[in-house]
Amino acid sequence: MSVAAPPVIKLTNFINGQWIDSCAGSSDQAGSDKEWRDVVNPATGEILASVPLADATDVNAAVEAAAAAFPEWRRTPPENRIQPLFKLKMLLEEHIDQVARIITVENGKTFAEAKAEMRRAIENVEVACGIPMMMQGYNLEDVARGIDEMMLRQPLGVVAAIVPFNFPGMIAFWYLPYAIATGNTFILKPSERVPLTMRYIYELLEKTGLPKGVVNLVNGSKAAVDALIDHPKVRAISFVGSTPVARYIYSRSAEKGKRCQCQGGAKNHVIVLPDADMPMATQIISDSAFGCAGQRCLAVSVALTIGEAQKTFRDSISDAASKLRVGNGLEDGVQMGPVITPQSKERVEHLIGVGEKQGAKVLLDGRNAKIPRHESGNFVKPTILDNVPATSELTDTEIFGPVLSLVHADSLDDALAWLERSAYGNQASLFTSSGSAARRFRYEAPAGNIGINIGVAAPMAYFPFSGWKNSFFGDLHGQGRDAIEFYTDKKVVVERWAKEHSRKF
Ligand code: NAD
Repeated sequence: MSVAAPPVIKLTNFINGQWIDSCAGSSDQAGSDKEWRDVVNPATGEILASVPLADATDVNAAVEAAAAAFPEWRRTPPENRIQPLFKLKMLLEEHIDQVARIITVENGKTFAEAKAEMRRAIENVEVACGIPMMMQGYNLEDVARGIDEMMLRQPLGVVAAIVPFNFPGMIAFWYLPYAIATGNTFILKPSERVPLTMRYIYELLEKTGLPKGVVNLVNGSKAAVDALIDHPKVRAISFVGSTPVARYIYSRSAEKGKRCQCQGGAKNHVIVLPDADMPMATQIISDSAFGCAGQRCLAVSVALTIGEAQKTFRDSISDAASKLRVGNGLEDGVQMGPVITPQSKERVEHLIGVGEKQGAKVLLDGRNAKIPRHESGNFVKPTILDNVPATSELTDTEIFGPVLSLVHADSLDDALAWLERSAYGNQASLFTSSGSAARRFRYEAPAGNIGINIGVAAPMAYFPFSGWKNSFFGDLHGQGRDAIEFYTDKKVVVERWAKEHSRKF
């Protein structure tokens, strides 16, 4: 007997406190030519849902709802504005397994990785609960005789964030909690490849008591993003994704006079000195390069070895990577899941071939991976390329898959020069037991997030998530104090009150 496939969920947008159909569903309205995309489980190929690609009509409805909610939300005392965030923290804790499961099903990372991602999301909610302190301005009496001056922080209005597929749960939390705690109203545009996680999280947000219109969600892709940037009532844009799109959004936002912060792609380097604790370095670098199938903007993708580390590290990392269990992230014992789409798998495998043709030796080849019972999954197993020449196109290409390139450098000077030449500057790490090498590296490495004996230097919520060169466009980063700066306008007030008036009383 054949079993009917479950009906595919048709996703909606969350606007003004309600789940409403995108105009994509109606054939007689302006949005009739809007498209829908399948949301697909990358481990099985199963279609999970259908997501509408909103255009300006949907975006306009969300912006108007957020704009209408702003005056009252802005007047709500900060102490009251953070109460829904305390509720959200509790709801996320209670539902962390459900959220993590959805992340694994639509993104492919393992359940443990998905849960770890949500822990980082929750940290941001916790930090934003400190807004009544963090949002304070400063003042000085008698800047001139009898004249006082103060700096106040005020929210901007409607702000929006556009996020990528690789952290369906966490990245929105670099923005949402800070934006609303500082008194703004917020619109999220999740990645159309992984919209189910935020659908679930917005259902939790509905239970927090936030007034209608304070948080909104629009599903879509480029047309929705363009409409957000172009809408005159949207004051600020936060973006995380690939470098070409980051650069595009940054320039289009600037042209429209918007405040903007855009995090882009990466090509992260780790330098392994011969005095490193090799078992520890191997374990941590393996986790960094192959965790989340290499689809992390902080994943190490080039390891530069110095001296005898060339052999010791090459042998130990090859051994560790070859033992990683690849499969469906929901299964116990699986350490690495698939990449996001069949096109990603094809691109990653193509780039491995390019590396080989341009002189690298394939030490461990993850192409053509076969995972039992998952023939339709997008699996690439851990891959290690040795001796990737400086001239190879791979040296500055973000592969965004489980591929680690090994390069031998003659000295720390040479290795740092290699980093200096990179177009990206998201993260750089050093493994050593030398304090002075560590200090030099910290001082000179040209990247915004630095790891010393750390493989994924992901800053905690109370530090800015930095990024340099083509990995970031803007000046204020996400998280921490930068988030408060980004989401508030500074207003300076200079006051004089004539003495005679107070003598009357
Ligand atoms: P992407 O650039 O394809 O998409 C990101 C977002 O932009 C999505 O919401 C998408 O709908 C939208 N978008 C895509 N094309 C667009 C266009 N032409 N115009 C306007 N909007 C568009 O990125 P992705 O594949 O989802 O994510 C992977 C990339 O994100 C990698 O390059 C990775 O390094 C980067 N990333 C960076 C960081 C960081 O902190 N620097 C963090 C996570 C991911």
